Amino acid sequence: MTLKSHFPFLGETLNKPMLSRSNPWDLRGKVALITGGDRGIGRETTKLLHSMGASVAVNFRSSRERAEELKEELGERVEVFQADVSRREEVRAMVQGVVQRMGGVDVLVNNAGITGRMNLQEFREEEFKRMWEVNFLGVLHTSLEVIPHMIRRGGGSIVNVSSVAGLGTSVEGTTFYAVTKAAVISLTKRMALELGPHRIRVNAVAPGWIETDMTIGGRSREEIRAMEEFIEGRTMLRRAGTPADVAGVIAFLASEASSYVTGQVIVVDGGRLDFLTRGG
Ligand code: NAP
Repeated sequence: MTLKSHFPFLGETLNKPMLSRSNPWDLRGKVALITGGDRGIGRETTKLLHSMGASVAVNFRSSRERAEELKEELGERVEVFQADVSRREEVRAMVQGVVQRMGGVDVLVNNAGITGRMNLQEFREEEFKRMWEVNFLGVLHTSLEVIPHMIRRGGGSIVNVSSVAGLGTSVEGTTFYAVTKAAVISLTKRMALELGPHRIRVNAVAPGWIETDMTIGGRSREEIRAMEEFIEGRTMLRRAGTPADVAGVIAFLASEASSYVTGQVIVVDGGRLDFLTRGG
């Protein structure tokens, strides 16, 4: 007796696996939109997805020059699009542009983000609002504009860049940044739930301390070294993270290598959260 005769409904479920390639890491023919794709973690992600064969739509906010320079470096299969993700109209125009010029969107990496230093009693409303608009509403706006196109294409993958702060670190001054990143995790899980039937997977990465302009920009060599030592003493891998460390996990979530993974948060912190909770 075959499985099929025992369970006649087998193979007739709504969502059959989308695995269609012999190499699940192959992104040829796919279009990936990366917000804040011109700098830091976003730039490294753009480069990696491109090297896996994807056509990349690089969103930038302030520097067309930097985005064009990246386009020049990568050569073919790259387009650049200006938009502030906190502004829905700009995001709508950007996504329309991507669809018109590149044919659609299969992968969305919601990476654009900002930070701000505030403890609880230092709450500054304007600063918090700006962080909320970029870190949370930016993810929501871009996803809402992209989702109908993914549904039309029969599925896709959305990767949201949260932070270990959103899971509960205790780093001085990150209280309200943590709030915005926790909201991204919550949204990720609800998006995964609602979009699963459309074959759209939604996951998040939660990076630890990664050396980018966000963490080391504007600091002296001594300050950077002191921060590195602080991190080295608190991670299992005894080092700070690099944008490439995060890009690798984003690429896994973007590709069919993670075809049965959705609603998850993958921590990319060199073992820092676990190290801290061991109580040693
Ligand atoms: P980064 O080097 O400062 O880069 C941030 C990128 O986001 C830049 O391209 C920036 O463009 C863009 N961006 C900011 N506001 C934007 C807006 N309103 N619209 C469109 N783009 C905007 O930072 P990063 O370290 O690579 O951070 C990338 C993501 O990882 C962020 O979401 C961050 O919160 C998260 N993260 C970082 C760390 C870390 O340790 N570095 C840890 C955990 C999570 P402009 O320069 O033009 O503003």
